[in-house]
Order: sequence, then structure tokens, then C-alpha cells
Amino acid sequence: MITQIINTIQGEGINIGIPTTLVRFFGCNLKCPFCDTKFSINEKDLKKNPNVNNFENENIYEILLEKVSLTNSLLITGGEPFLDIKNEIQIIDFIDYLDSKNILKSIEFETNGTIFPKQVITYLLEKKRDIKIFFNISPKLKGHCYNKKNFYYDDVLCLIQNSISEYLCYENDFNLSFKFIYDGTNLCDVEIKTFLSLFKIKDNIFIMPLTTHKNGLVNEESIKKFNELSFKTAKYCLKNKYRFTTRLQVYLFKDINEII
Ligand code: SF4
Repeated sequence: MITQIINTIQGEGINIGIPTTLVRFFGCNLKCPFCDTKFSINEKDLKKNPNVNNFENENIYEILLEKVSLTNSLLITGGEPFLDIKNEIQIIDFIDYLDSKNILKSIEFETNGTIFPKQVITYLLEKKRDIKIFFNISPKLKGHCYNKKNFYYDDVLCLIQNSISEYLCYENDFNLSFKFIYDGTNLCDVEIKTFLSLFKIKDNIFIMPLTTHKNGLVNEESIKKFNELSFKTAKYCLKNKYRFTTRLQVYLFKDINEII
């Protein structure tokens, strides 16, 4: 199910600052306690959010055409956009449609990296389109996202390992970047480095401060904490030669769910 189609500014990662058309899918196979888009993982939060739509009686293709004409860029996000094979089919249809109108220049997929989108990858490879393709993979590590109520982290790690190994077969075909959330602890540092060394990942490594905003709502106190953690994260990036990314949405909007 799609819950948002909006034109916005990409707030984080490799394409930070770029105007884009965000398409958000509902649902995620993880339940990270720090998730800043709870309305994309919980029905209860979805119902309370005034910025979402179910697009039941609307022509999604018309909306997409109107929005992407203004940005030439598509950002597919969630939740976890590759959660369901139906999502993959829908994504392929969207790309096909927008490409037929000759308005699409770049596509970014934001994913937690646990599900390899075989259909989408096969489609993109076959088409060999002149469109820049970015997979922004954000693996969640055990230290700060393990939610005992829902998951055993070993299962999550197993999913990530299988999926990342597949992604890495296509590192020459697409732009793959890896975004980790940093909470300032030694445990987080160890986990990031263990992950990177496991997959021999050396490039396009982004580190982003953990969100300090409860339920995605920004206030003075949460911004102060976020600034402190951002400074710590920047120092960590400098020391390790990682790329720092902030969350622009924190500074641009009161409710970070208006922008990703
Ligand atoms: S993987 Fe992303 S969307 Fe899913 S629960 Fe975690 S932070 Fe939220």
C-alpha cells in the first residue's frame, strides 16, 4: 500500500538536498524502536497521521506524472519498499510509465537491506535505461535496534547477509551506498566495523546520527540532543573516513514526517 506521494527534498544520504518525488510504501519487516516513520510501520500511527493518503479513488499514475515532471527524480521508500512482491511489480510499472514519458532521470531506493528485490533488479538490468539508479541500504545493527519483542537479531542478520551478498554482485551496475545509524557508543562502532569488514565494504559508507525525536516530532530539547549527537557523529566520521549525513528534515520541518 502506498501512503505518500509528495515532492520534497531528500533529507539524508547520498542524494541529500536533491528535489525528488517521494513514494512511500507502508509496512516493514523490522520494528526498530527508533523508527522515525512509525506511521509507515504501524496501522495505529498511520490512522493518526494527517499527511498520508490511501489513494483509493485517485489515479496514482496521473499524480506521479504531475509530481515527477517537476523533479525528474523518484525516491522509493517506506517502511520497507521491497517487503512484498506486489510492491516490486508496482515499482516496475511506475518506472515503465514515467520512462515512457521521458521525464525520469534518477531513482533512489531506500531499504533496510533485508530483502533483495530480484524483480526490480532484473527489470532494471534488462532495460539498461539512461537513468541513474541508487540503492541506499541502511542495515540496522543489533546494539540499538534489536527489539526482543519482535525479532531475534540472528534471523535479521541472516536476512541481511544473504541480501547484501546479492546486492554486491551488482556494485558495477548500480550505485550502492550503505547508511548506518550512529548512537555514539563503542558498541555501535564495533558493529559498524564488523559489518563493513564482513562484506569488505570500503566505499559509499554514510553515518547518520540516531534520531532523538520521539514519534518523529521535533522540539527544542530533541534538536539540542540531535545537535550534540551530530557533533559526535561528525568527529567519528572524521576519525574513520566515513561520510557524514545529517537528517535535513529535523531542521526544515517541525514534523519530520513531512520530508524524509
Ligand atoms: S527498518 Fe526503517 S522503516 Fe523499518 S522499522 Fe526500522 S527504521 Fe523503521
